[in-house]
Amino acid sequence: MISVFGSANMDLVAYTPIVPKRGETVTGRAFAAVPGGKGANQAVAAARAGADVAFMGAVGDDAFGPVVRETLRSAGVDVGRLRVVPGSSGVAHIVVDDDGGNSIIVVPGANGAVTAPSAEDLAVIARSDALLLQLELPMEAVVSAARQARVPVVLTPAPARELPRELLDAVDLIVPNEHEAEALTGLADPREALEALLELVPEAVITLGAEGALYGSRAGGRLRVPAVPVRAVDTTAAGDTFVGALAVARAEGRPQEEALRFAAAAAALSVQREGASTSMPGRAEIDAALR
Ligand code: ATP
Repeated sequence: MISVFGSANMDLVAYTPIVPKRGETVTGRAFAAVPGGKGANQAVAAARAGADVAFMGAVGDDAFGPVVRETLRSAGVDVGRLRVVPGSSGVAHIVVDDDGGNSIIVVPGANGAVTAPSAEDLAVIARSDALLLQLELPMEAVVSAARQARVPVVLTPAPARELPRELLDAVDLIVPNEHEAEALTGLADPREALEALLELVPEAVITLGAEGALYGSRAGGRLRVPAVPVRAVDTTAAGDTFVGALAVARAEGRPQEEALRFAAAAAALSVQREGASTSMPGRAEIDAALR
């Protein structure tokens, strides 16, 4: 089983030919409301990839809360520990222009109300093969979960920010993209950044978009995992799909390189479809892509 302690949002996406300036109103082309948030995305990705998954976090008592809950539930995620708090759910307000460029306002809402995991949460985490964490909850909550987990902790350090020592000391595997890796280490070369990350945590994967990923462990292993060549239409949540699938393959005890290939195959399937939670592949699809 995989536990995810993280954010759940409603992504409100407006597609527009022109991004409005201050005081301006423009007419958009289309609109989509899709559940997202890095925590919920990783939970859905792991569940679709074939694991039992428990999600711990919070939604608001607004109209979005039940939609987010149902999306997780229908993907097979256990939402028994998803709390409802007064006020709005987390919302990502996204504007996508015709060149595919986007600007995003994230309002944490209920995510900002999440504190340390409860005793019941910790009991669920203790029964898991891994705990997945990201940085869209208050830092104190993330640190508390990492320190109290008695199982391997996988951290996606996004959005990028400085990481307290007490968090790093509790992380077993860190999975930044190349920008986050540079922000954490000050090193633009991913190979150098990987070595610097391994001074902080025992294992690291740096994802490099269409260039694949680099893996390293303090025990000595270094691997380059190529991306699967595909025509990408929307890379939203590629990283979350990669992490969710990687956690599943590791929980199944697969050898390192095989687990990374499983993750890359899942992520490559997700970039060929639009959206976040809507784009994540099921186990049969991933297995077929690997054959
Ligand atoms: P996001 O923030 O959009 O979720 P990210 O920046 O965290 O993504 P990336 O490094 O862009 O993560 O991608 C994660 C993984 O997804 C890559 O290591 C690769 O395996 C796969 N991937 C991403 N883009 C492509 C692509 N264009 N073609 C094939 N695979 C891709």
